Amino acid sequence: MIDFNVPPYVKESSTFVEEAIKLHKICGDGTFTKKCNEWLEKRFNVQKVLLTTSCTTALDMAMLLCDLQPGDEVILPSYTFSSTATAPVLVRAKLVFVDIDPKTMNIDPEKIKAAITDKTKVIMVMHYAGISCDMDSIMAIAKEYNLKVVEDAAQGVMSTYKGKALGTFGDFGCYSFHETKNYSMGEGGALLINNPAYNERAEILREKGTNRSKFFRGQVDKYTWVDFGDSYLPSELNAAYLYGQLLHADDINNARLECWNYYYKELLPLQEKGLLQLPTVPDGCVHNAHMFYVKCKNLEERTSFISFLKSKQIYCVFHYIPLHSAPAGLKFGRFEGEDKYTTKESERLARLPLYYGLTTKQCDEVVNGIFEFFGIKR
Ligand SMILES: *Cc1c(COP(=O)(O)O)cnc(C)c1O
Repeated sequence: MIDFNVPPYVKESSTFVEEAIKLHKICGDGTFTKKCNEWLEKRFNVQKVLLTTSCTTALDMAMLLCDLQPGDEVILPSYTFSSTATAPVLVRAKLVFVDIDPKTMNIDPEKIKAAITDKTKVIMVMHYAGISCDMDSIMAIAKEYNLKVVEDAAQGVMSTYKGKALGTFGDFGCYSFHETKNYSMGEGGALLINNPAYNERAEILREKGTNRSKFFRGQVDKYTWVDFGDSYLPSELNAAYLYGQLLHADDINNARLECWNYYYKELLPLQEKGLLQLPTVPDGCVHNAHMFYVKCKNLEERTSFISFLKSKQIYCVFHYIPLHSAPAGLKFGRFEGEDKYTTKESERLARLPLYYGLTTKQCDEVVNGIFEFFGIKR
C-alpha cells in the first residue's frame, strides 16, 4: 500500500517537545517559538516572522493588517484553497477571481491587470505546488497601481524565485506547517512581514490587542489594551515539534526532490507519447517538491486513473474544486474575465504520493502502475 501522504517526523521533535514539557511552560512565544521565528528569519532573509496557529490565521492577520474598507476588492485565483479566500471575506472585501496560467496552475498576471478597478486594493497570489508565480510581473503591476500583495506560500516553504524565498516578495507572506505540508507542527503556520512599518501593529493584533510584546522588551513599563486584536499564538509544544524538523530542512527537502525528480524522469516517455502532462517549472523557479501532479486528458480519464491506481493500493488524489463555483465563492465574489483554464485544468489534475520517507522503490511502483494504466510497456 502506498499512502498519498505521511506527515514528516524526525527524532529531535520528541526530544524538544519533552524539553518544553519539562520547563512547565508551554504557552505561546516561549523558547521554541522564538527559535522557529529566528530560524525562519535567518534562512529566508525576512526582517520579521511570527509563528501562528495556521496559515489560515496568518492570512487573516495579513488581511487585517492591509486595513481594507468594506467593498474594497481583492484579486485572487479561483484555483486555490478556501483559506486564501476566507481572509478577505473576514474584512468584508469583495473577491475578484481571475484565471490561471495552465502551465503552472498559478494566477496569470495578465488576468490580474485586466481585473483592476478603482476599488482594487490587494492582490493575493498562491504558489501552487511550491512553484513560484511570476513575481516580477505581479510586483510590477502592484507597483504601477499601488496595490498590496499577500502571498499564500502555504506550499512554498524552501522554494525560491530568482534566488529569493517565496513569501518574501509581497507585503506579507504566509506559510503553513499543517501536517499535509513539507514541514509540520500538526496545526500551525507563520506570518512573514516584509515591511517593518507593520511590525508593531502585527504584534498587537497577535497578542489580543495589547502591547505585551513591547512590555517584554522593556519598551513600556506596563502593558495595556491598545487596539483590536485576536490570539494567533501556537503552543510551545507545537513549536518544539516544528523546530526539530527545521533543523533537518535540507534533508527533508532533498529527499522530497529525489522522489519528484524520479517521477519526472520516469514519466517523461508518457508525456512524449502525448498520454499525460507533467508539471512545468519556469526559469528562475527553484521548487521544494511539495507536490507531483500529472494531467490526464479530461475528468473522465482522471477518474479512472485514480480508481485504477487505488485498485493497486496506490493512493492518488485530485485537488481544488474552483472557488468561484463553490457556494461561498458565488456569495462573496465574482469571476472576472473568461474561465478558460481554471475549471478545465482542475478537472484533469491528479496528485501522486509524495512525502518525506517515500522510497525510490515505492515511486517505482507508482510509475509501474501508471504505465500499466496507459497500457504501455515500461
Ligand atoms: C494548506 C494550505 C492552506 C491552509 O493551511 P493551514 O495551515 O492548514 O491553515 C492555505 N492555503 C494553501 C494554498 C494551502 O495549501
